[in-house]
Order: sequence, then C-alpha cells, then structure tokens
Amino acid sequence: MIHNPQMECMPREEMRKLQSERLIATVKKCYENVPFYKKKMDELGVKPEDIKSIDDISKLPFTTKYDLRDEYPFGLEAVPHTEVRRIHASSGTTGKPVVDTYTENDLRNWAEGVARVMAVADIGPGDTVQVSYGYGLFTGGLGAHDGAALRGAVQLPTSAGNTEKQIMLMQDFGSNALCCTPSYAMHLAEAIHESKVVSVNKMKLRAGFFGAEPWTDGMRKELEQKLHIKAYDIYGLTEMSGPGVGGECEYQDGTHLWEDMFYPEIINPDTLEPCAPGEFGELVFTSLTKEAMPILRYRTRDLTRLIYEPCRCGRTAVRMDRILGRSDDMMIIRGVNVFPSQIETCLTEFPAFQPYYFITVDRVNNEDTFDLDVELKPEFYTVELHEQIKYLKPLFDRIVSMVGIKPNIHIKPPYGIERSVGKAKHVLDKRDFTK
Ligand code: ADP
Ligand code: ZN
Repeated sequence: MIHNPQMECMPREEMRKLQSERLIATVKKCYENVPFYKKKMDELGVKPEDIKSIDDISKLPFTTKYDLRDEYPFGLEAVPHTEVRRIHASSGTTGKPVVDTYTENDLRNWAEGVARVMAVADIGPGDTVQVSYGYGLFTGGLGAHDGAALRGAVQLPTSAGNTEKQIMLMQDFGSNALCCTPSYAMHLAEAIHESKVVSVNKMKLRAGFFGAEPWTDGMRKELEQKLHIKAYDIYGLTEMSGPGVGGECEYQDGTHLWEDMFYPEIINPDTLEPCAPGEFGELVFTSLTKEAMPILRYRTRDLTRLIYEPCRCGRTAVRMDRILGRSDDMMIIRGVNVFPSQIETCLTEFPAFQPYYFITVDRVNNEDTFDLDVELKPEFYTVELHEQIKYLKPLFDRIVSMVGIKPNIHIKPPYGIERSVGKAKHVLDKRDFTK
C-alpha cells in the first residue's frame, strides 16, 4: 500500500510548485540564520530573492562533507538549540563525525520517509519489525524504529550483533520484517541455515528493508531465496536525516526518492554541471523540510542516475538507479576504475561462491597488485587445487571482462572472510600515495 498517496503520487507539475515553495523558504532560512550559508551565497552574489523557483537551484552553492566537518558540531543549525530534540552522527571513518540535529518536526518527517518504504510491504499493526541496524548515534537503528512506530507496527529493537539470539527471537517472536545492512542480512541468513535450533520454515518473515551500503540484484536474489522474503532497498544518509530518503516499491525497479522532502540533482563531479536526465553522475540533495539543519545542494559522492519515467506502482516520485558506489570508494588500480560492487555482481553470478569478498590493493615495484579473497559455499569447498581451479577460472574470466584487470584470487576456507554486523568493509588499500 501507499503510505502517503498525496505526496508519493502528486502530479509532477504540482510537485515542482511545492518544491519551489519549500526551496524558497529553506534558502531564506539558511541565509538569515546560518552564517556559513550567508557567506557562501554572498561570495556567489546570490540573494534569497534570486531564488524564485526550483529551476533556480543551480545558482546556489554546494555543501560538502568537509564543510560539515568545519562547522562541527552545530555551526549549520538554523534554529535555537532549545528547539533541538535529538542528535545523530555518522561513523566518520576519518576525523570528526558528521552531525545532524533534529527538531520535533524533523523527527516526524524522518519517520514519515521510513514509513513510506515500509508501507510497500503493508507493514502495519500486528506486524513485528525486527530492527537489526545498530542503535546509537548511527541513524539506522532509531530511524527504522521510528518508521515502524509510525506504521503502528511492533518495534523489536534487537540492534546489530548477537546473531544466535537474533535468529532465535526472529523465530520465537514471529518477526514479519527485518531491517539491517544487506551484508548483515546475509550473515543472519547463513546463521539460520546452519542452525539446529531455528528454521526459516518456522519463521514469519515476509519483507526485508536493507540499505546503508551498496548492494546488487544478485545479492537481493540470494537474500530473498534464503530468507523467504521480498527484499527492498532503503536509501538514506545522515546529512538528510538518515534512512528513508527513499525506498523501492513492489516492482523493485529503482528506488523512489521522497522529493517533497529532498530535492535530488545529478551533477558531473568534475565540472559540477548538471547531467542530462538519465545520465550517471553524482547525486546531490537539497533538504526541503528540514528545520534544525537545512542543507543546500549536498554532494553525496554517491554515483547513480535518476529515472523520471512514471513507475507502474502509480507513484510519481522520481526513481534512482542502484548506487554504483561512492566516488570516494572507487579504487584506481593500474589506471582502471574499480568499484567493490562490481566484484559482488560477479560473485553472485556463480552459485558456488559466497557473496563475501575482501580486496587488498598494494604497490610492489611500482606496480599495483590486486588481491581478492573469496569464499566457496561450504558444499563446494575443497582444498584440492585442481578442484579449486574449476571454480576460479570462470570467476577470473568474468572479473577481467567486467573490470578490465586481472585479480589474484585466493579461496579462503568457510568463514575465512570476516562477517560484518553493520556496514561491511571490503577494501584494504595499502598503497602509500604520499611517496
Ligand atoms: P557514513 O558516511 O559514516 O557511512 P551514513 O550512514 O550517513 O554514514 O552513510 C550514508 C551513505 O551510505 C550514503 O551516502 C550511501 O553511500 C550509503 N548508502 C545508504 N543507503 C544505501 C543504499 N540503499 N544503497 C547504497 N548505498 C547506500
Ligand atoms: Zn514504483
């Protein structure tokens, strides 16, 4: 079902009018209350009055992760701190974390975005939503939690980790939906299939809402088969509140973005010019309803494209293609651009392989090395080299044809690749670019 037909199915002309009104208000608020935005707009010679409709958005300055770090922690707040009700922060692997703060309305709108995604699988009263995203500063746990609450569902806040107990509760409490990263979902699926205590046939799961990291259709198929569910993509980022910026509908043909709250653009990351409709580039968001920390033209670094054709589900909200990766996840190995998600795609094409992998890149004698650890499913695992070759050769050929360079593939024993409970780590780049 559709959670909010008025917003999700609004005729596009009407949506542009709403976006224009909201953009004008957001820009005015930023200019008047956030010195950072006043300065940036003054430098570009743009005044709030110059923004008359959503078509003027390209006159506005961009915001980057570096800006957010410079303004840490509350420099971008546009309301008195007394109006703030919650603070979240992203993991921020280097330096200071990225902070987002929320007013009461911000929390309500955030839950609304997540609820729209859950409604796709008819989640409502009587359904139990198991939230296995981490609870804490990370937006995954509480974001999914509040979305489930808004749908009137039972919230089961298991958080991430403690896998044996998770799957026991999943069965005993009859969880109907699971929310976590796709890599943790895979780990849970594997644990269920190996368990002597629980069985997927005794479970009541029907939907999974997976996100917070890139995943492929191959991974989706595996999760759907193993968990007996329909698996939906849910997308979001801390800077735009968290998960629930968009999600897939029942057709699983692109991720609808909630454009009444987050205005998406695709730009060329080198020239910063807008891309033609349907072209791949960097996703940029302007928040249209955020109160505590409104953000203008935030460069996500996520690479994707937007699909404006109407969707069969009746929603008019624009769809986003799968995220290829973040531009800062992209590795350049021997001069070739390589995304971790390409490796996942290759692995899931072969039934003998697990979707787990780990890439190590190094530079030896001025040449890049590209090592790839993979795992055979236990039923295919063998220590015999000549047996391993049977599986390795086709995988090697597929990777070479997809990414264009030759990996050094190593088969690890079962569980030889670390399982993650949150966002999976897939790459170790040992090259020293300072030399
Ligand atoms: P961090 O920056 O520490 O990872 P966030 O949780 O805010 O913290 O991460 C947001 C990012 O996670 C997005 O910009 C995107 O790269 C990735 N992401 C979130 N959801 C998805 C998804 N459904 N598919 C692909 N990538 C996703
Ligand atoms: Zn749709």
